[in-house]
Amino acid sequence: MSARTLIIAIDAGHGGEDSGAKGYNDTYEKNVTLAIARKLKELMDETPDMRGVLIRDGDYFISLNGRVQKARQVRADLFISIHADAFIKPHARGSSVFALSERGATSASARWLAKKENEADLIGGVNLAVKDPYLARTLLDLSQTATINDSMKLAKHVLGEMGNINTLHGSSVQQAGFAVLKSPDIPSILIETAFISNPSEELRLNDKDYQEKMARAILSGIKGYFAKNPALSKPLLVQNKLTST
Ligand SMILES: [Zn+2]
Repeated sequence: MSARTLIIAIDAGHGGEDSGAKGYNDTYEKNVTLAIARKLKELMDETPDMRGVLIRDGDYFISLNGRVQKARQVRADLFISIHADAFIKPHARGSSVFALSERGATSASARWLAKKENEADLIGGVNLAVKDPYLARTLLDLSQTATINDSMKLAKHVLGEMGNINTLHGSSVQQAGFAVLKSPDIPSILIETAFISNPSEELRLNDKDYQEKMARAILSGIKGYFAKNPALSKPLLVQNKLTST
């Protein structure tokens, strides 16, 4: 662990009029994601040198861009977006972890999922204070590429821990163009905790003990990531040049 306090942005997917996916027994994704997010914050705040910041702490709508902005405002070291998956076939099951892809999704289903999650709104992106548009583009690309590398490492740690408590939907980290993962300088992952459309996984997602298990697995993955990749101070160049829209 680092000497300074790590700030982890916890993003409970959906909220308000955007209820996300709906379970077989009418569980709303937005409620499950908030319950797991709150538990995760509690566990983080009990961890030395770590603090969880909830992007959403109630049943209200926040745009995807607004979520990214809030993480930037609190100068988050990581961004963790929590979701529950859904599919038309009720037997689909298991956990997945995603990082941003710059080039397109790793699979058709990853692309489909990203499109579905992005429907909440369209992101405005990040404005650069740099006047030269080519320099600005280059700085942003360099930062984004480095950040995706870190996001992939983080996602691997979290996926490994999820595998201890649930079936994995895919054995490796997936990548797709999730708008909420587009901070160019904050490693960001999106966790599809389980399938809310699978009746047995829906039951577990509603279970307080299982929600805590899930939160503990995510936290273990984050700790594993920081143990291998000590948090360095963020590159000043990027930090100073980027401002949120
Ligand atoms: Zn979702």
